[in-house]
Amino acid sequence: MAFDVFRRHKDTSPPAWVRAAAAGVAAWEWLDDELREQLVADTADLVGRFRWEAANGFSVTDEMRGLIAAHAALLTLGLGTDWYRRVSSVIVHPTAFERSGEYDLGGGIVSDGVVDLLGESDPHGPVVIAWTAARHDAAFPEDGRNVVLHEFAHQLDMADGWVDGTPPLHDARARARWIDVCTRELERLRSGDDTDGLIDHYAANDPGEFFAVLSELFFTLPFDLAAEVPDLYDVLADFYLLDPASMVEAT
Ligand SMILES: [Zn+2]
Repeated sequence: MAFDVFRRHKDTSPPAWVRAAAAGVAAWEWLDDELREQLVADTADLVGRFRWEAANGFSVTDEMRGLIAAHAALLTLGLGTDWYRRVSSVIVHPTAFERSGEYDLGGGIVSDGVVDLLGESDPHGPVVIAWTAARHDAAFPEDGRNVVLHEFAHQLDMADGWVDGTPPLHDARARARWIDVCTRELERLRSGDDTDGLIDHYAANDPGEFFAVLSELFFTLPFDLAAEVPDLYDVLADFYLLDPASMVEAT
């Protein structure tokens, strides 16, 4: 009937700013159409799922929500956003933020002074992000650093309740190989036998930082990681259920 033409359908597509945020992630270049649509949908899901808070005197904009959610969504593109069900909220600071008192910096180092942080990830707690760092890292993926990928990778690691550099793996065989490869490569990094210099030495602090730093590389410089440390790339690809290096090569 004619009036059907005028029937209004509920528009469930994400707002334009969410799509723009997803398309602004450097990895957008090498994603196929299906994964791009998945990234847009997952970004919209996380924008709505997380509780967004601003540091005192600051306010969180759509640009901030979009960019942070898009990078978090990239990390779980193969896994699904349910992996973030323990993330209570995301707190955005304008720039580096201070922590004082006893503060565990990882690797057995505990500060009792004041430290400046760009990001923080607590078990059962919030993810804290310095906006200037998130924006900078998104603009320069060639540096292989990304504070948002780093802090959300810690959340994946903690999904089984432990911060030990081993997220819940898909089966026992994968877990055995993961531990074998990551233990060997962490020792190699600590011994200084990393002639390529691709992996930031912050990764040598402990297995938790190793996983977070390697996750940054896996999504920013996947081709370099696959070429330099193929075993490590393979276990990460098996966990993330994505093969970005082959997608980069195909583009
Ligand atoms: Zn960390």
